[in-house]
Amino acid sequence: MKYLSTRGLAPQLRFSEILLGGLASDGGLYVPETYPRLAAAELEAMRGMNYRELAYAVLSRLIDDIPHDDLRRLIDKTYTADVYRYVTDRENAEDITPLKTLEPGLHVLALSNGPTLAFKDMAMQLLGNLFEYALARTGGELNILGATSGDTGSAAEYAMRGKRGVRVFMLSPEHGMTRFQQAQMYALQDANIHNLVIRGVFDQCQDIVKAVSNDLEFKTKHRIGAVNSINWARVAAQSVYYFKAYFAATRSNDEQVSFSVPSGNFGNVCAGHIARQMGLPIRKLIVATNENDVLDEFFRTGVYRPRPETKHTSSPSMDISKASNFERFVFDLTGRDAAKIRALWGAVESGGSFDLNAEGLFRHVAEFGMVSGSSSHANRIDTIRTVYEVYGTMIDPHTADGLKVGLEHREPGVPLVCMETAQPAKFEDAIREALGIDPVRPAELADLEAQPQKKHVMDADVDAVKQFIVDHVR
Ligand SMILES: *Cc1c(COP(=O)(O)O)cnc(C)c1O
Repeated sequence: MKYLSTRGLAPQLRFSEILLGGLASDGGLYVPETYPRLAAAELEAMRGMNYRELAYAVLSRLIDDIPHDDLRRLIDKTYTADVYRYVTDRENAEDITPLKTLEPGLHVLALSNGPTLAFKDMAMQLLGNLFEYALARTGGELNILGATSGDTGSAAEYAMRGKRGVRVFMLSPEHGMTRFQQAQMYALQDANIHNLVIRGVFDQCQDIVKAVSNDLEFKTKHRIGAVNSINWARVAAQSVYYFKAYFAATRSNDEQVSFSVPSGNFGNVCAGHIARQMGLPIRKLIVATNENDVLDEFFRTGVYRPRPETKHTSSPSMDISKASNFERFVFDLTGRDAAKIRALWGAVESGGSFDLNAEGLFRHVAEFGMVSGSSSHANRIDTIRTVYEVYGTMIDPHTADGLKVGLEHREPGVPLVCMETAQPAKFEDAIREALGIDPVRPAELADLEAQPQKKHVMDADVDAVKQFIVDHVR
């Protein structure tokens, strides 16, 4: 299995060669040369598999340069009931991603039972184990530099803590994250985890990361890497739970299922697209956005128009105006036309937009099952309230966006699975506003905010961050 760049000008590489990297050298994203297609008999054999077996069945088709026994061991170590242990009532931790049925044909897939209570743990935990394995094979080291406004940073830190050969330098803004989110990161005492708290806002953190990464000499010398959402291994790992949910929501492979996905960078729903390309009988992939509705606009009109400004909303992990994984989908939509992708993203990267109606490309969207919708603050508060009153289930604001949009596309006779991307405990303010009560929190995390914190507060200064890295990489 070779991977090729969506822009067609980078070398074709194997899985292990793209594992630690980010963008391809031509600025594109790596995708498999073809999606492996699972035969009907193979899909039939997958029904009844547990999460680890499913993960191996799916990922061994996408990863063929890690010895099978090693891959199986890495998967078995990642997807355990102990790692994904923060189950709420009526869930079984052995399911890893339990399917919660609200009513017949309407389900929520619990993806946020991992250490940071958000779905990003599903892929990031595997990434941590893959990185450690790959670095041990080559004797290398990696210093992960990132900026976070909440979920990504904590998921990365919990995945990389204690991993040999890996250090994490995570920039977060002094204000803007919830106290719970801050405590999740800053309470980590591991020697290889460094929290750099920047006196500024998230955009300044991100600008510093860009500035450091653009200094190629520094980047190479100090082996700076990233774990952003364009990482192929992350997207691939996420496709597994679409299979898990499909088998849990159906009795036979003649049935179809629709998925509703709270979306920002298009990573999660891209994983659904991959599962569908591999032959999973998915009817619709419902892209749900919040007030930052660039993706919704595209799927309604065919026009992709990233905005200069991102709105701050009460589903903050979806506050994204440029969906970094979207290029993978458009590559398939154009019939894998790399020259076309170069032209389209050339326009986007110089501040413009593109319209896929012109050459009749947009009408192919339906063949990929993609539909969309958006949600507002009032919608999500309403949805949290209704779901609590009608089904006795508490959902977080992002999941509420997904459910709101999902229900708009629900069809009789087709099970609808809404992806739960975070637990309500992470977003107390929205829950209090909707329900007038505090969200339930895993008992183990009851006094999280009271634990001692390890963090380094500094000015928004590129050189200060560089110096900190130099001082801490030996
Ligand atoms: C990251 C995140 C999302 C968006 O997922 P994408 O893969 O970027 O589309 C949605 N909800 C929560 C809670 C998240 O952390």
